[in-house]
Amino acid sequence: MNREIPTSILAIDLGGTKILLGEVTPDGEILNTKSYPSDTTSQAIALEGIIQAIHDYKQTVPFIAKKQIAIGIGLVGRVDHTRGIWFEIEPSKSQETDVKQIIEASFKLPCGIDNDVACATRSEQILGWGTLSDNFIYLNIGTGIAAGFVVNGEYITGSHFNAGEIGHMVVALNSEVLCGCGRKGCVERIASGLGLHERITSLRHQYAFTSLLMEEGVRVSAQAIFTRAEAGDALCSRVSEEAAQALASTIMNLVRVSDPDTIILGGGVVANNSYFLSRIKHYLNPPTMRFVTNGLVMTKHSTAEAGLVGAALVGLQASQANGNGAGER
Ligand SMILES: [Zn+2]
Repeated sequence: MNREIPTSILAIDLGGTKILLGEVTPDGEILNTKSYPSDTTSQAIALEGIIQAIHDYKQTVPFIAKKQIAIGIGLVGRVDHTRGIWFEIEPSKSQETDVKQIIEASFKLPCGIDNDVACATRSEQILGWGTLSDNFIYLNIGTGIAAGFVVNGEYITGSHFNAGEIGHMVVALNSEVLCGCGRKGCVERIASGLGLHERITSLRHQYAFTSLLMEEGVRVSAQAIFTRAEAGDALCSRVSEEAAQALASTIMNLVRVSDPDTIILGGGVVANNSYFLSRIKHYLNPPTMRFVTNGLVMTKHSTAEAGLVGAALVGLQASQANGNGAGER
């Protein structure tokens, strides 16, 4: 019964509200996890939280594998995974930080880092749909919207590690909804978790009645909106149809860019909701989608798992670059 697990990676997924820390095998099996609250006010504060979480984990959670060979971290914002440098947490808050060097000095283990959606794409590439496809787009629809492009088996980073920020693609040309990026009609403002909430809030006064429960200061969940839309609520139907249409436009525009055979959806907004998925599909134009032979599919991982496993894979890569899992140096 007692399976011996020789090595593991300490993986960290930094999110807006929590840090998920876990022990993951090189094959992507999650052995154990623990959550900590996160503070992403600045990169310095977020990194301090990560360091404290690693110290706490090492002291309070017994390791299952015999030896830990690396630390892998998925971060929010723009990340140079080749050098381990975290450029910015968001465009207005840039504080270039050598995370790899800081973590390696603190914990004496090789460290790899990458952007969170890049991590999820990487786990899909190595352990998910990537086993069937060399040309796919991973579209993450959560609080925000971003994508990872794999083209001819290569993950696309761009000239500033900023490829895939497709939440700022304008898909509603006549929209009055102003985005933080300065343009109007960005898909993120219409179809992300936050965007859906903002749309509901701003259109509420146009509808005499809605069955949707809204509480002051609490974000309306995407799932609640879709459930009400399916039941025929007019306000929720409008917001969810606009979102489905915006996402379908986004997907078809992206299909024209990189000619993928698979479009993978992940993130909290689309998790466990066949109704919304069917509404997106409704707006897809078959001729545009004709070479997407695997279709529009859901991620093979849960959202939480994808980020953590992807972070572990980045850590594994750092350990291999350091001499193939030599462990502590
Ligand atoms: Zn924008």
